[in-house]
Amino acid sequence: MKKVLSFDIDQTLNIAKTPIPDEIAELLTKCLDHFEICPISGQKFDQFMIQIVDRLTEATPEQLSHLHLFVAQGTQYYRYNIEKKEWEKVYDYPLKPEEVEKITNAIETAAKEFGYWEEDKLKEGDIIIENRGSQVTFSALGQKADTEAKYAWDPDLAKRKKIQARAKELAPEFDFEIGGTTSVNAFTPGMNKKFGMTHLLQELGVTKEEVLYFGDMTQPGGNDYPVKEMGVETITVRSHEDTAYALRGILGVL
Ligand SMILES: [Mg+2]
Repeated sequence: MKKVLSFDIDQTLNIAKTPIPDEIAELLTKCLDHFEICPISGQKFDQFMIQIVDRLTEATPEQLSHLHLFVAQGTQYYRYNIEKKEWEKVYDYPLKPEEVEKITNAIETAAKEFGYWEEDKLKEGDIIIENRGSQVTFSALGQKADTEAKYAWDPDLAKRKKIQARAKELAPEFDFEIGGTTSVNAFTPGMNKKFGMTHLLQELGVTKEEVLYFGDMTQPGGNDYPVKEMGVETITVRSHEDTAYALRGILGVL
C-alpha cells in the first residue's frame, strides 16, 4: 500500500517552468486527503510556491500539512506549520562558495567552447547560471525565457549532453545531470534525487515500497533516474496529462 506520492515537477506536473494546470491542482488537492504528497525538483523554494502551492487554492491547512516540498533535488525540505500557517525549512545542505565557483567556471567554459553561451538571448535581469544553494543550475536561455523557445533549444538533449560531458572533465569531483528543457544541474556526488528521496524516507518514516514516484526523465542520465535506480516504484510520464490520467486512476475518479 502506497503512503507517499512523489513527483518531479517540470513536464510531470506542469509545462516546464509554468504553474500547474487546474486539473493537476484539483487532483493533488484530492490526493492530500489520502497520501503524503512530495514534489522533488531542482528548482528553488519560490518556484515551488509559484508553480504548486499558490495553485492549490482550495486546499485547507490540514491538507497542506500533508504536502512536503523537497527543494533543490531534496537538499532542502520545507513543510507547512499548521499553527503558524507558514512554510518552515526542516533542513538545508548548501554548497560551499568555492564549490559554486568551480562548477560555474566549468559550465561556462563548456558552454562557450561549443558556442552554446546565449547571453544575447537573455531577458533583462536574467542569468544563465544560478546558485540554488545546494546545486548550481545552467539554464541555456535563462529562467525567464519563453516556453516555446526553451522547448526548441535542445529537443534531442544533444547540446546538454555535450555540456554535461565537458563540464565533468573540467570539474570531475562534481556530478552534472540533464534536467528541465534547457538545464544542466551540478552538485556534489550523491546530491541528486536519490539524496532527496533517501531523506524523504527518513523524514516521513516510510519505506521505499510505500512510495510511488512520477517523473519524465527516468532514463539513465536523466534527473529522475536516481530515484528509479534505488528501487522506488516509478511511473514514467511524457507530460502532466499522463500524470493526471494516472492520478484519476489512483483516486478512482473519472
Ligand atoms: Mg522533469
